[in-house]
Amino acid sequence: MNLFNVGITSLNDKQKECIEKYLYKRIPDENTFLKSSFKLLANNQGEQPQLRDKRFTKVKDTYIISMLQLAPMQISGKNFCPSAGCCKEICIGDSGTNGKKQMLARLKRSFYYTEQFNGFFERLVLEIQNTKNLAALKKLSLFVRLNGYSDIPWLEKTPDIYTLEEIHKNSTLEKADIGEQPKNIFKLFPDVYFYDYTKDYCYYIRHINAKDQHKNYHLVYSYDKICDRVNQNISKNWLENINDLAVIVSQDLKSELMKDRDNENDHIGHNKKICYIDGDLDDNRSLDYHVSKYKTIILLTFQGPKDKVQNFAFTEKMDFENCIITRL
Ligand code: SF4
Repeated sequence: MNLFNVGITSLNDKQKECIEKYLYKRIPDENTFLKSSFKLLANNQGEQPQLRDKRFTKVKDTYIISMLQLAPMQISGKNFCPSAGCCKEICIGDSGTNGKKQMLARLKRSFYYTEQFNGFFERLVLEIQNTKNLAALKKLSLFVRLNGYSDIPWLEKTPDIYTLEEIHKNSTLEKADIGEQPKNIFKLFPDVYFYDYTKDYCYYIRHINAKDQHKNYHLVYSYDKICDRVNQNISKNWLENINDLAVIVSQDLKSELMKDRDNENDHIGHNKKICYIDGDLDDNRSLDYHVSKYKTIILLTFQGPKDKVQNFAFTEKMDFENCIITRL
């Protein structure tokens, strides 16, 4: 597919500026950029450069993880992470590990999303369906993460009624499955598992409150020191409402906390039932071990520059316990 096919035939000045500023000194050939093919989803089967990380490849014989990655704000000029806090400064989507080719594809997806949301949604449905067929052939389950470098409230994203008609014509989804009313992506694929992280506390709560309607969508709240202050204005004890929390810590602190878990000491002294999960081993949050009445804390090690670790990650156990554990 190319952007001509989806109705974007030229780039506006802002879009050209994005490409020029971050990817090329000048766009050598606008048509080449527009015409080059791209997919919305990358998956962990085969050599997908976007998902080469061990958190995805370790499990590729067990299930398929498919991910949608948009370009971060610094590149696209469009803020797909409006609730991001301190991480904005060192966004992982803008780190040196991202190749130019991948970034270009993310830019195209971002332009497509903002300019032609209905077409984007239709394309997303078709790609999920294709990946679902691939998963069925390999006898694997399919897990989809839609917010790679974005924080879009997908629960509330639905295409217009005409797009639903197109989806019905072009996909193998039955009319009865699609229905007359716009449906979000989770309802269109009740047999596919979706998971994501969010920094948007209000969205997380809306997700919890509507959990019965989308059991195939698992959301983890991602802790951020700046967001903490903002969330306290919404609800003083906001952390109590979080069941699945991702926290960035230093490598040493993660080892210490994981040792506590292995010694079954992880909740001693705080009268809390906490289950620590090493989030660096596997990205698939849908499969995290859940015990009723336990809060799940996903420990992720800081991936940014070493000199910034103090600003973004917990390094001391006491600090971590005071700030997180005692408030859950
Ligand atoms: S939430 Fe993730 S993608 Fe969004 S700004 Fe922060 S690091 Fe970047």
